[in-house]
Amino acid sequence: MNAQEHLLTCLAEECAEVAQEVAKALRFGLDDKKPGQDRTNAERIASEMGDLLAVYNMLEHEGLLPTVTTCFAPKQMKVEQYMAYARTRGTLSPARTALQSDNQEGEGRG
Ligand SMILES: [Mg+2]
Repeated sequence: MNAQEHLLTCLAEECAEVAQEVAKALRFGLDDKKPGQDRTNAERIASEMGDLLAVYNMLEHEGLLPTVTTCFAPKQMKVEQYMAYARTRGTLSPARTALQSDNQEGEGRG
């Protein structure tokens, strides 16, 4: 295994760790703490995202991966479009999130 393969393996592992923490949050809640641990699932997701970004930064620094674009709007719009579609399909409950509340407040200010 060379350094490129090693770093890519680390990146894959960090992606899996983010997914694992997200799955725990879906099962037990963002604010849940596993017995004996001091961090919530939300904090654990943030920590693993930090690990993921750190490894990505190493790959970027080595010139192996391009710089991550920080233009979030296109992806966020796409996700919101699919959330609206899911509501029409009845697969997304009307339960409110901070994101949905913020968007609806903004619509009313027009
Ligand atoms: Mg990690």
